[in-house]
Order: sequence, then C-alpha cells, then structure tokens
Amino acid sequence: MPRPDLLARLAVQTAERSQAHLLRRLRTVERADGPWLETGGRRLLSFCSNDYLDLAGHPQLVAAFRRAAADGGVGSTAAALVCGQRAEHAALEEALAAWTGRERALLFSSGYMANLGVMQALLAQGEPGSRPGQALCVQDKLNHACLLDGARLAGAELRRYPHGDAAAAARQLASRADAAALLATDGVFSMDGDLAPLPELAALCAREGATLMVDDAHGLGVLGGHGAGSLDAAGLGQREVPVLMATLGKALGCYGAFVAGPAALVEGVMQLARPYIYTTALPPALAAAAVQAVRLAREESWRREKLAALVARFRAGAAQLGLALKPSSSAIQPLLLGSAQAALEAARQLEQAGLLVGAIRPPTVPAGSARLRITLSAAHEEAQVDRLLDALAALRPAHSRSGPPAEPESPPGRARIMAR
Ligand SMILES: *Cc1c(COP(=O)(O)O)cnc(C)c1O
Repeated sequence: MPRPDLLARLAVQTAERSQAHLLRRLRTVERADGPWLETGGRRLLSFCSNDYLDLAGHPQLVAAFRRAAADGGVGSTAAALVCGQRAEHAALEEALAAWTGRERALLFSSGYMANLGVMQALLAQGEPGSRPGQALCVQDKLNHACLLDGARLAGAELRRYPHGDAAAAARQLASRADAAALLATDGVFSMDGDLAPLPELAALCAREGATLMVDDAHGLGVLGGHGAGSLDAAGLGQREVPVLMATLGKALGCYGAFVAGPAALVEGVMQLARPYIYTTALPPALAAAAVQAVRLAREESWRREKLAALVARFRAGAAQLGLALKPSSSAIQPLLLGSAQAALEAARQLEQAGLLVGAIRPPTVPAGSARLRITLSAAHEEAQVDRLLDALAALRPAHSRSGPPAEPESPPGRARIMAR
C-alpha cells in the first residue's frame, strides 16, 4: 500500500468544497475609492466592507501614515520586545486605553493573533507541574473562528453554548469542578450583526467566578458614547469585563488589534503570549494612522448617526419587500438564503446589477444558513441604499419569506464570490 500523499489529500478536499459550492474565489481590486471598487474592469458599489465609519481613505489618516513612513521607514524591523516599540505605538496604546476606559492596552499585529495570544496567556497550562490543571473556556456557538482556535490551541476544555443563551452558559460554568474558567463572546456577532447579552453574561461570570472576555471587533467605533464599543453601550467597565479585545481593521479603517484591561492582565499577556512575543510589531506608520482614526471616531459622532440612519432606512425598505433579514441593529445586515448555491446565485445577480455583496457560506456560518452579508457604512448615501433595495427586490422570488426554491446546478467554472 502506498502511503497517502499530503498534496493529493488536499486536492481531494478542495474538489469536495468545489462540488458543495463552497469554493472561494479571490478577486483582485484594481482601485478602491470609498464604497466603490474597480474589479475586472467594472466599477462596483460595495456592501461588503467593514469600514463602517468611512475612515480607511480619510485624508488625515493618509497624511499621518505618509509622515510617519517618511520619518521612520515602513517596517518596524523587529518584535516590540527586541528593538523596542516606537513612540507611535505607545501613543496608540494610550489612546485606545483612554477611549475604552481601560488601564492599559497592548497592540497585536492582527485580531486573529490577539485572540490566540490572550487565550494562550490565560488558558495554557504551561510547563508540567508549574501550573494548575486544564482551564475551561465557554463560548457562544457563533463566536468568530479565531476565538475557537485560540481556546483549542491553548489546550483548554472548550464548551460552546447555543447562540446568545446566557442560561446555557451559566449551566456550563456551574457544572465545572474546580477549574478556572473564561467565558468568551463576540460583542457584535460578525456574521449575524446581533449583540451578545453582555449584562447577563457579566452577571453570571461574577456569580460563577469566571473571567469574561469580549471580542468587540464590530462594536468598537460603532456602538456606545463616542464609539467606545459594546461594553460602553452596555455600561460595563473593566471590573465586569476584564478582557477586551478589538481590532483596528474594521471601523477604524486601519490594520492590527489590541487587548485592553487591568494593568496586571496586560502585563501578563505581554510576558506570556507567543503571538505577541514572536511577531514583528505593527508598522509604526499604521499606528500613527490609527491614532488619527481613534480621534476621528471619538469626535465625529455624525459618522455613527449617518450609519444608524442608513441602517434604519435599509431595514424599513427590506421589511416592505418582505425580505428575510436577521434581527440586527448594527452595520451588519445579513439576508438569510439557506443553501450555499442560493447565496452564490444571489450575489452573482447583484454583481450583474453593479453591486458587490459577500455570499457567506459554511464553514463560516452553520450549514443551511448561507447568507448575503450586507454591510453598510457612513460612506454610503441614501440613494445607494435605495439602489441596493431595488436590486434585492429584483431577486425577490428566490428569497422572500417563503424560502428559496430549489436552484438548478450551476455550470462548472462559474465565478464564485469569496466569503469572508
Ligand atoms: C475580523 C475579526 C477578527 C480578526 O481580526 P483581524 O485583525 O482581521 O485578524 C477577530 N474577531 C472578530 C469578531 C472579527 O470580526
């Protein structure tokens, strides 16, 4: 018997994805300009970006980025603990801690790494004999992939509760023996747009002696007074929620992420998180741009107000059309379609109409819940939202409340929209 070959195995798995309409396609965008993208020689109006406050192209971010790169170069040249962090990094950490009302913040190269890092620091068992036993990590079923990966890589016992079900989470925590426990949740769910029941989760963590961690990638900048996020909107400080993680790549329009909380937590994460210690620090120019993004996000509340008005307009219009929108008051407005094929077909039709919307399929979302993930931004205008509604109305027979009809097999080689 020949031994199996890894590349052959991978090719089989790829072919299986293709047959299940789960192949993802990477498109190249020649030019991005606010909500407009030029791709394949066409200009498309995008409803798939996470640049909720329209900051990614802001002249003040671009100017800060240029200035810092001209002064100090592009790369940070080493991990922060080796060559030191630059003044831009320190200024950004201070700005993020002040904005979110936390004692201290620590920058990571990405949200994925921040979650791996903080979970490793909190949950890993360390050298045999030097630490207490395995920790428990309780998570919402719809948490972002990197929270799940973080708990798995840390070797924690992972239990997942039904989406938004605080009572189930409480039971999972209560049934543990004497293990230390972390409850981790998205603040705003990335593929559904709804909010975690944060006050209930905070109360049950206090009752059960567990630590609460919130990933606010989609809440920061959008929710709360001055955009300070889901926790601020829920009135929860660092005592109730010691571990806050959020990214710089969504509403702040930059790249990177941070963990914020009590000084002792941040110090411990810095000492123990391998994805912090062994990775090159963010380019300082990015940190300089992000300082401007934090300032604009705090000060310019009209961006949040405009976004909220567009969301309300979109939801009212969708309700009139009888579209099966998920309940969400955030910038993320998913239209549930069911099969992967139906989601791809709808995205294809929208693209023909000049609109770019992501078709999100398993394994990013549970089987049978493929959807269009429509995101709105302060970059959009009312007329553009109306144009999207018109295009969705034209698709109506395929996804009104009665559910999508069976779709014919799509021909081989058809272009497929890349999911997140
Ligand atoms: C995007 C996202 C991340 C990952 O952040 P990156 O900086 O893109 O790696 C983590 N958590 C949630 C909820 C996200 O939406």
